[in-house]
Amino acid sequence: MGTKAIALLSGGLDSTLAIRVVLDQGIEVIALNFLTPFCLCDRRGCRREAIKAADELGVELKVFNIAEEYLGIVKNPRYGYGKNMNPCIDCRIMMHRKAKEYMQMVGASFVITGEVLGQRPMSQHKAALRIIERDSGLEGLVLRPLSAKLLPPTIPEEQGLIDRERLLAISGRSRKPQMALATRYGINDYPSPAGGCLLTDPGFARRMKDLLDHTEVTLGEIGLLRMGRHFRLSPSAKLVVGRDKEENERLLRLSRTGDVQLTPTACKGPIAIGRGHFDQDLIMRAARIVARYSDTPSDAEVAIGYRRPPDDTMCILLARPLDEEELEGLRI
Ligand code: SF4
Repeated sequence: MGTKAIALLSGGLDSTLAIRVVLDQGIEVIALNFLTPFCLCDRRGCRREAIKAADELGVELKVFNIAEEYLGIVKNPRYGYGKNMNPCIDCRIMMHRKAKEYMQMVGASFVITGEVLGQRPMSQHKAALRIIERDSGLEGLVLRPLSAKLLPPTIPEEQGLIDRERLLAISGRSRKPQMALATRYGINDYPSPAGGCLLTDPGFARRMKDLLDHTEVTLGEIGLLRMGRHFRLSPSAKLVVGRDKEENERLLRLSRTGDVQLTPTACKGPIAIGRGHFDQDLIMRAARIVARYSDTPSDAEVAIGYRRPPDDTMCILLARPLDEEELEGLRI
């Protein structure tokens, strides 16, 4: 029986190339892809990239939904956050641990990743790579084919399962070496590196932090963070205002029992969802924010309807748009 390896495959260029380099040495590869609630594209989109890459590489792909577990590390990462709310080291440790479990289950010999030394400030420097290996229980068993010649030899290299001479010495943030390699392999269609993780997006990270500071975060809450304008009205109440027709419709779909739904009744304007504890004063404040985004002169009173499902009764109040300064003070 030949040598088998497990690969972490995002569907991006680096992980695709890493697998290609190892396949070239006659190793059988099984690719793993992990779905989290924070994929920058929609969840099916991320999965589609991985499926497409695996298909073109001709390798088997296993997709795992790790949403619940992932949320746990975002709430409390042992190694902290990067520039925003991205717990990259803990995230990589978790994915490597999963890869180790799968490696042992199928009798594979090592794990491949598309990590490139020095490409990402938090998780791809030498010390971080060592921590990830150690804490996932994969010391010496993680082969990073794109940077392997810049790193200590791994066990599969020492055992002669892999020829180190045919691995690469890429480092840094430039993508030119990977693009040149892609051309050599005839890989022309790959996603832009901008794809990835919402936790590195400053706006999303601010909303995520606000949520963690005020609520017991569940997966259901994450969907709301992906859209709309967000306002913190009190420690226990927030408002999300749709920015276009599509977001208005999605907000209504995500609304749940106990939320307050608001919208102008006599002119065009957004739909907003208030979540948390809303007394009459806060409903008025929410209505004034909705009025601010309605199609009406900036200081005119606007009729705003609100209801609290499952109660279908629509109440109407007249709200003067909140002024810009106050609005910005509430914006998350
Ligand atoms: S950017 Fe996001 S998905 Fe990537 S390692 Fe960091 S936390 Fe994980």
